[in-house]
Amino acid sequence: MRNLVLAFTLALTTLSSIKAQETKKPKPIIDVHVHAMKINPAFSGDLCPWFLSNMPGAIPGKPAPSFIDTDCAHPLKAAKSDEDFQQQLLATAERLNITFVASGDAEVLHRWKKAAPERVIPSIGVAPGMSVEAFEDSLSNGFYQVMGEIAPQYQGKSPADMSLDEYFAVAEKLGIPVGIHMGTGGNGMANLTQPNYRASMGNPFLLEDVLARHPNLKIWVMHAGYPMIDEMIALMGANAYVYVDLAGFIWSYPLEEIHMYLRRLVQAGFGKRILYGTDLMMWPELLETSIGVIENANYLSEDQKRDIFFNNAIRFFDWDPKKFE
Ligand SMILES: [Zn+2]
Repeated sequence: MRNLVLAFTLALTTLSSIKAQETKKPKPIIDVHVHAMKINPAFSGDLCPWFLSNMPGAIPGKPAPSFIDTDCAHPLKAAKSDEDFQQQLLATAERLNITFVASGDAEVLHRWKKAAPERVIPSIGVAPGMSVEAFEDSLSNGFYQVMGEIAPQYQGKSPADMSLDEYFAVAEKLGIPVGIHMGTGGNGMANLTQPNYRASMGNPFLLEDVLARHPNLKIWVMHAGYPMIDEMIALMGANAYVYVDLAGFIWSYPLEEIHMYLRRLVQAGFGKRILYGTDLMMWPELLETSIGVIENANYLSEDQKRDIFFNNAIRFFDWDPKKFE
């Protein structure tokens, strides 16, 4: 009987401590790189993280082998509809206490913002044909707080191309930070999927002219300029307002490669300039996958992890940390 009472008490204590854990809110995380997109069920397939561990190349005239594989223990499930995507994304953000900067489809963005105003920070890119005046209006009316994703690399253009200059001037004037895509994109980008894409246009040094023309512009280099680590480090050393995000490559390239890159950034002294980001598209579970990569980085201290997850973004965007607790 005594044993029974003991077991019962023990069960009760365990139950209440689980309850306490459940009700305790996790520390806040800011994801600076989420894509608001419409889901096309015909193109939404599952995916294994770190799928770019194999770059199969291709043979001219023959179909390219798929480099998105699903041959792993737990492929990430793609959202099946716009509603499914929104529901899963916002529920995960709430559970893990994530606030995210999102850009992309304006309709989707407005829906997300309406459903979870505290979780979503809308970001605006430069849509084809958008005038500088219209762009400035959009940034001044209060809905959009960030500029990005700017991705001239996909058009084979440098970020210093003068066609973007007036838009950067607006961001500089309004004190709006800008996220610019500089990085790789997978197997055979230029000749299999995006004919205008140029690897050389992802060189972080191409930002030097933009920064010289706009000395007060805050730029974060999306995808951390991967794999051009030396140029990235040199650019950040020379320009105090430049940050990087870890989006995309932390769940697609081989894990060892990711940690080598992140470790090098921290080792070079830039632990306070790294922003956490996912590049989340149609796979909501990527939020947990990407958090896991940072949590498992045994070369980072707890303080360095908190900097990456939260503190660095607060400083870079000049936000009030209390609003995220
Ligand atoms: Zn990108």
